[in-house]
Amino acid sequence: MSDLIEGRTGQWEVVIGLEVHAQVTAKAKLFSGAATAFGAEPNSQVSTVDAAFPGMLPVINRRCVEQAVKTGLGLNAQINLFSVFDRKNYFYPDLPAGYQISQYQQPVVGRGVVILDMPDGSTREIGITRLHLEQDAGKSLHDQNPTQTYVDLNRAGIGLMEIVSEPDLRSAEEAGIYLRKLRSILRYLGTCDGNMEEGSLRCDCNVSVRKPGAPFGTRCELKNLNSVRFVMQAIDIEARRQIDLIEEGGTVQQQTRLFDPNRGETRPMRSKENDHDYRYFPDPDLLPLTLDKEWVERLRAELPELPDAKKTRFIRDLGLSPEDAGVLVAERATAEYFQQVASGRDAKAAANWVMGDLFGALNKKGLGIEESPVPAERLGALIDLITDKTISGRIAKDVFAEMAETGAAPGDIVAAKGLHQVSDTGAIEAAVDAALAANPAQVAQYATSPKVLGFFVGQVMKATGGKANPALVNQLLKQKLGG
Ligand code: ADP
Ligand code: MG
Repeated sequence: MSDLIEGRTGQWEVVIGLEVHAQVTAKAKLFSGAATAFGAEPNSQVSTVDAAFPGMLPVINRRCVEQAVKTGLGLNAQINLFSVFDRKNYFYPDLPAGYQISQYQQPVVGRGVVILDMPDGSTREIGITRLHLEQDAGKSLHDQNPTQTYVDLNRAGIGLMEIVSEPDLRSAEEAGIYLRKLRSILRYLGTCDGNMEEGSLRCDCNVSVRKPGAPFGTRCELKNLNSVRFVMQAIDIEARRQIDLIEEGGTVQQQTRLFDPNRGETRPMRSKENDHDYRYFPDPDLLPLTLDKEWVERLRAELPELPDAKKTRFIRDLGLSPEDAGVLVAERATAEYFQQVASGRDAKAAANWVMGDLFGALNKKGLGIEESPVPAERLGALIDLITDKTISGRIAKDVFAEMAETGAAPGDIVAAKGLHQVSDTGAIEAAVDAALAANPAQVAQYATSPKVLGFFVGQVMKATGGKANPALVNQLLKQKLGG
């Protein structure tokens, strides 16, 4: 599969680097004790520090630092035991202090790597440049009053982790896979809930184009994309715009642009600001952040098993294919559900039920696995009914469909509907005899065309309401047909 884009003058390569803002999961803000819950009444979660009252001093929230370090460890990144908070100065109504506290030349986390699982089963390594801690800004509300803009400072001062990637991504598809993988790692770590609709994960996309092998082109930055789908659309549209522009003899200007999903275009917002526009300097109200090496090592030791390690384990210990393992570890909740179903049972069967019937039912209902009408124990119990031959695999499909509808336990459904598999040889033999007697032509055919066995199996199953033990049916039919 080639990711190159056809242009009038030949093929082009897209180069992408992402800056992801991930809201730190923490009860309090980065430098104040105000609450961070989503959806609160405007300006109900604002301390005097967040509102930048004169003389108020920031105090670092240890929990946010811990979350950033954990994230760095989860990204296989270097943890900097010494880092610095700087003031990034700019003026905007939702930023009462006139500066954002951020980290500039000495971030808390340095280089790392994220491994992408490509659809063809291969992997790609994407470099992480850095992760730094910074404050979120407030929010301007333009739709509350016809002539005025209101400001909600609930978000002001909430801790964000800005995670910057190297320009290693080469297509919209790869960017989508990267974002999903990053989100998955954050959720496994519990350091960001990854909820893009609520703005917990926002993405700025840097896009440039070049002829393969040529030096990097000039990039444009697409601001504040809040869904994976928009990120992918925006990249494709922006790459096309740049290619058309260059092929018509123009040059790309380094710009900050906005993606308009309704019109399917990107348009200029401002010319790109330079670092010196922000007049960064170390925040004199804060000491440099120094971390204890043992504390970092303790966090490392306490990390949960992350998707890459889990995938390797599922392949190695449970015998799953890389594709199945990749699907099952992508979301922490799915992996936990699967592990519960597979525990003490055939892992491949568990995987098939989860990825087949369960995913199908959840998709149909538009539910996440956390809201599954069939809890893991009950799916496990259903598989046990097949294993102990209480029901056939065929009947189990129907039982599952009913479990998904009513939430009932599999044993109760089987009992109420009398779905127990018939393993009574006498009863099955009677049905076999009846099927043979009713279809003499097919009986005659069997000598030259053994395929008709399948026809008879179908007949017997129909006659027994699908409840006959399939192995017994096969065995009896073969005996009677072919001797
Ligand atoms: P700035 O400080 O101006 O935002 P950075 O060096 O921090 O610039 O880079 C921001 C992002 O832009 C990074 O994710 C990086 O990978 C990406 N990037 C840098 N150069 C290019 C390029 N030529 N094309 C696409 N992305 C790029
Ligand atoms: Mg930057």
